[in-house]
Amino acid sequence: MERKQQLAFLLSMLVLFVILVAQNFSMRGELDRLPYGEFKALVKAEKVKNVVLGEQVLWGTLLGEEVEGLVSKQTAERLRQLGPGEHPFSTIRVNDPTLVQDLEAAKIPFSGVVESKWFATLLSWILPALIFVAIWQFVMRRMGGGAGLMAIGKSHARIYMEKGTGVCFDDVAGIDEAKEELMQVVEFLKAPERYRKLGGKIPKGVLIVGAPGTGKTLLAKAVAGEAGVPFFSLSGSEFVEMFVGVGAARIRDLFEQAAQKAPCIIFIDELDALGKARGMGVMGGNDEREQTLNQLLVQMDGFDTSSGVIIMAATNRPEILDPALLRPGRFDRHVAIDRPDLPGRQQILRVHSKAVTLAPGVDLALIAARTPGFAGADLANLVNEAALHAARIGKDAVDMQDFDEAIDRVIGGLEKKNRLINPMEKQTVAYHEAGHALVAEARPNADRVGKISIVPRGIAALGYTQQIPTEDRYLMKKSELLDRIDVLLGGRVAEEIVFGDVSTGAQNDLQRATDMARHMITHYGMSETLGLATFEEPRTSLFLNVPVPQQQATYSERTAQAIDDETRKILDDAHARVVKTLEASRGTLEVLAKLLLEKEVVDRASLDEILADQSRQS
Ligand code: ADP
Ligand code: ZN
Repeated sequence: MERKQQLAFLLSMLVLFVILVAQNFSMRGELDRLPYGEFKALVKAEKVKNVVLGEQVLWGTLLGEEVEGLVSKQTAERLRQLGPGEHPFSTIRVNDPTLVQDLEAAKIPFSGVVESKWFATLLSWILPALIFVAIWQFVMRRMGGGAGLMAIGKSHARIYMEKGTGVCFDDVAGIDEAKEELMQVVEFLKAPERYRKLGGKIPKGVLIVGAPGTGKTLLAKAVAGEAGVPFFSLSGSEFVEMFVGVGAARIRDLFEQAAQKAPCIIFIDELDALGKARGMGVMGGNDEREQTLNQLLVQMDGFDTSSGVIIMAATNRPEILDPALLRPGRFDRHVAIDRPDLPGRQQILRVHSKAVTLAPGVDLALIAARTPGFAGADLANLVNEAALHAARIGKDAVDMQDFDEAIDRVIGGLEKKNRLINPMEKQTVAYHEAGHALVAEARPNADRVGKISIVPRGIAALGYTQQIPTEDRYLMKKSELLDRIDVLLGGRVAEEIVFGDVSTGAQNDLQRATDMARHMITHYGMSETLGLATFEEPRTSLFLNVPVPQQQATYSERTAQAIDDETRKILDDAHARVVKTLEASRGTLEVLAKLLLEKEVVDRASLDEILADQSRQS
């Protein structure tokens, strides 16, 4: 369809061009652009039969005999070639006031014409327009939008529909938690009627969050594959360069098509490109993106899950998404995919090496141990590189040496992209997280530790200690806040104790601890010296961990100084307490950090074992 239209467009341009050229040529004679001087000489010698006076050009008929001496050698030569008889000619007109007199004197009939200007007009209008369109089309194609002029109104061109993805859960390795969460969606898609009858609540939208290459798309496809339903996909980034209105039309289209094929899955990749919080753009806004986003919200609200359509979306930057997208009834189910841990990497390697012939000595566990920080896509790439390497030297099986080479290659590439941490950093992160965890365990009012991980999570967080609140909290006591501050300082203090040096990794911790200490004084009246007065507008950012915008202070310099001093004191006291705690359990810190370095993820059970050992020793 698109091809045909483009062809028609090109053809009509060609026809236009031919007409223009023909027009142009029909004004010319056999003797084109006869020099004006020669023309005048011919007029005076009465060798011209008639003349038409145009505004810029003169043309007419020449009696082409006995012209030697009147014209240049070239013109004479041309005339000889044309043969005897009359010849049409044309001349560029020059400003010559006596021309008419001369023509009258020589009794040459002459007339004027009104030159039609449509040709010039056409040229000056249409040509630039055509050039503009051509450039535009080129740019659009380069940007990958693939749309250009021809795609207006034909919005389904870029929606991909796969009848069956051919991917199943077995192809997705190392992210069992995410798979489990999506099992319910698969069950629903397999038999929507059953759920409809029971009236069970099915999520409308599932947001998959994870770093690039961790298998978000793969997982969504696997859900479709397992359920045996069609898979519609499109990418949020494709909407950004669209015409106003096209993106919205496309979304409408997508939902219409999907409704016809239900049960099915709609998958929107790179949701963040489309769903950035509105009004966040630097240069005003992107109207098109907002329209598209609004349309998406409208469509999501407009259908109910019992129709059997489930929307999945992927992003690696959930924090910039418009909150409206995450509201109940939209993408209210979130599935997080972390980079795979050691066993996960081994499983992914197994999946991908199924297709290649492995030599007997290949130890996938060893390879997994050597590739911390690799995402699923990196591991797939690794296996491929190893196979290529083996093929290049003509081996019939891929052996450890090929993998060694491939690891070096892939690591090199990832390091360039700043996506891997080096062993020294990894060690620092291990002690840092172990510090957080041990302080959390030592404080009666802190939440228990659920899981400690040093698998990098994103750009900012190199590791994390997950704490599980035992209950929902709306009120916190001073002692609880102080314990929280202690836990935040735990990472930094562990680095101090172990390395005698600190890293930049604790920046976020310190920021949060400082905020918390300040809030205790300025909002909650928990300060001994400043008393019960509150000093700032209450803001709800304490538990949400959002940066607080600076505001005009409503208190004096002296009070400001006092607040700073008091904050400092809270933090210093906390620091001293944490140092004491960690020095007392120095041995356990070592054990835990070593275990983290080895396993990358330590769960509650392993932590309990370590803590039990500690209490036995002391
Ligand atoms: P994302 O959408 O998160 O950027 P993809 O789903 O496109 O990542 O993953 C790219 C490729 O990496 C997949 O096609 C697959 O070959 C491989 N891959 C990623 N994660 C996994 C995994 N958990 N198990 C198996 N293969 C994976
Ligand atoms: Zn930390």
